[in-house]
Amino acid sequence: MPPKPQRTKRLPIYRNAGFLFDTIGEAADVFAREEEYPQSADRFSYSRYGNPNVAETEEQLAEIEGAQWAVLTASGMAAIDTALSAFQLGDQTGPWLFFSELYGGTNDYIENVLIGRRGIDAVRFHPEECEEQYDLDRLEDLLDNVEPSLLYFEPVTNPLLIVSDGGGIIELAKERGIPVIVDNTFATSRLWRPLEHGADIVVHSATKYLGGHGNLTAGVVCGNDSAIRKDAMLYRKYVGNTLSPDDAYRLNTQSRTFALRFAAQCQNASKLATALSGHPAVERVRYPGLESHPTHDEAAKMFEGRGYGAMINVDFKGGRAAADAFVEAVSDTISYVPTLGDPTTIMLHVATVWGEKRFPYPGMVRISVGFEPYDHLESGVLRALDEVAERA
Ligand code: PLP
Repeated sequence: MPPKPQRTKRLPIYRNAGFLFDTIGEAADVFAREEEYPQSADRFSYSRYGNPNVAETEEQLAEIEGAQWAVLTASGMAAIDTALSAFQLGDQTGPWLFFSELYGGTNDYIENVLIGRRGIDAVRFHPEECEEQYDLDRLEDLLDNVEPSLLYFEPVTNPLLIVSDGGGIIELAKERGIPVIVDNTFATSRLWRPLEHGADIVVHSATKYLGGHGNLTAGVVCGNDSAIRKDAMLYRKYVGNTLSPDDAYRLNTQSRTFALRFAAQCQNASKLATALSGHPAVERVRYPGLESHPTHDEAAKMFEGRGYGAMINVDFKGGRAAADAFVEAVSDTISYVPTLGDPTTIMLHVATVWGEKRFPYPGMVRISVGFEPYDHLESGVLRALDEVAERA
């Protein structure tokens, strides 16, 4: 005798590859509904097509984003691929315009998959050379000259933290009928909600702040248009890049604390950025909350006091040797772990992760600030900075 199902508010984990049907007719009905109306699945046939834990977590992430729907994928890159592929129309795919400052993995994907394998005409929009700032007049000219069929950007870029006027960018695209995809991983829905400004799709690496514990890899595509949702869900079904039920279950639990965690992380980051600034070992701190940041005004306007994010970029005087010294000296307080959004503060060396050619800053370290008690974090970092300054 199988045990009776127990009462619980949480959905148990359905690890089943396939689900049980009593009749051919019942199965045929569910298969037909999944193909026609994937968004209304209340009954499941096969976990690659749809799974109860994935569907439950999608509802929750849609609520966090303020979206009509969310589609979960196996990673942030899978979410980006799913979002873009929903707009790909074979030979009819027009030029796609990408901001140049994007996560390194996204740049690799554009070069090697979109251009290299799919032959898509991908045009790049560059910021002003020294100012680390995007000029929207130049964007307007580019939109008129290139006439792209899609626009893609990160409102807070990885790793330089350039903040762009997301509302203004989307408005320029919408005036011309161009669909917009926003990777909002760094800003998160707490700081800025692209869908409210007319973006068609928001993607996140849920590996980062939504999961928030460095223990799962996931991605999410969010939007309001049900036709795009259908295309995204069918694409996910065809290529099989869905999230596993176990990871969906954990993302469900962990994303419930996202708003609390991220608020605390932003507060810690703001204080740490100020503490780092002006230290003799430090050449420059990039943090959108600092008035010295080239796009501080954009950040203040867009985020309206909700915070400035939880990522900091520090350039050490003395280049690579000083960065090496810092990583060593701070290791009991900050670990070198190449991800972001973890509960505790972690860091990585930018040039060795994404290449010195793209980031010719040998002394640059990117810090993902956690929500550990602040005093401990600051004293550990200042002690390490003093050591670096002494060694120089
Ligand atoms: N987008 C941004 C801004 C990221 O920083 C990352 C990863 O660091 C990704 C997308 C890709 O996410 P994942 O590693 O979950 O595939």
